[in-house]
Amino acid sequence: MSGSRIYMDWNATAPLLSEAREACLFALDLVGNPSSVHGEGRALRTLIENARRDVAALCGAKAASVIFTSGATEAANLVLTPDFRMGRTPLKISRLYASAIEHPAVREGGRFQRDAVSEIPVTSAGIVDLEALRALLAAHDSELGLPMVAVMLVNNETGIIQPIAEIAEIVRAKGGILVVDAVQAAGRLPLAIEELNADFLILSSHKIGGPKGAGALVARGEIMMPVPLIRGGGQEKGHRSGTENPVAIAGFAAAARKVGEGVGQRMSAVGALRDKLEGEMLKAATDVVIHGRDVSRVGNTTFFTLPGLKAETGQIAFDLEGVALSAGSACSSGKVGQSHVLMAMGYDPRQGALRISIGEGTTAAEIERCAAAFAKVAARRRAPGQAA
Ligand code: PLP
Repeated sequence: MSGSRIYMDWNATAPLLSEAREACLFALDLVGNPSSVHGEGRALRTLIENARRDVAALCGAKAASVIFTSGATEAANLVLTPDFRMGRTPLKISRLYASAIEHPAVREGGRFQRDAVSEIPVTSAGIVDLEALRALLAAHDSELGLPMVAVMLVNNETGIIQPIAEIAEIVRAKGGILVVDAVQAAGRLPLAIEELNADFLILSSHKIGGPKGAGALVARGEIMMPVPLIRGGGQEKGHRSGTENPVAIAGFAAAARKVGEGVGQRMSAVGALRDKLEGEMLKAATDVVIHGRDVSRVGNTTFFTLPGLKAETGQIAFDLEGVALSAGSACSSGKVGQSHVLMAMGYDPRQGALRISIGEGTTAAEIERCAAAFAKVAARRRAPGQAA
């Protein structure tokens, strides 16, 4: 390994932005509880309400529709529930239809019973099969309750962008609710809840350069809302009780402000670096399979399989070369599991794939070093067909 390490795992967690760090430090020194009526409490309340506006602005929503949570996983568990309210009237959701490539935070189905969750298949290109979704919703019995559909905007492993507006039309025709996990899209694509025609968006702070431990459920309106997951003191207008975390929320908002500016321009620069890297990879190993290369992807991700190289072996080999990347999604045990995304796309998941995910902080020199590490790892792998 030469020189310092290169961090190429932004989809697992993006490095903390200096703006977010400063905002966290500022909030850390504020005394008081945001629900207190005294001046100290009111200062924290102002900080949280300003943060709400910033997070809302990132996705074209109204500030009043943002509910802060501890992260995207909690936001998913809040919204994925059979029990909704339309104002004060209970509203029943009888089935969740979740795409086969959702992050486990959504795929686990939140508060739905397992047998009330159906999977929407994806095509071999990694895009939600719209015909299959149509057929699933056509068979949905609305007498039992409304359908809820959950499809992510950008997949965390492949970076593939899903056709949410088209999906929304299908869901609307059946009177269903559309939940969109926008965790990997925020800061990488312009986001507008109205244009997406989604009912709810899910966001996470640490994927956009904010601190870990903050996220949001963003609603399109305020009328149709899930029954709370966490009950207690009635914070977040009763949708999520518990004293808010002003430090994490302030950092989240600072990151949202930063990544919301000029997203198109910033991401095309990142995309140019990613494309350069992929070009080098293809030169070094003509048999490398880059998943999702022919469809619409965000510019920061490359998900690839090198025949003859197992994902876990590859991950260690890159690590020894000083490159931090991941084999699919980061899983809590640290073990490399089989990729459900590859499986859903019809690939043999046994060999797995490696994910390089970069961001604005990534430099051309780092791309060169990563390409050199790739060439070394590719040259050292076993001949395809030989047991690993
Ligand atoms: N959704 C997607 C697409 C993700 O990539 C992740 C994190 O890996 C999550 C949800 C969960 O986010 P959090 O860590 O904020 O719970």
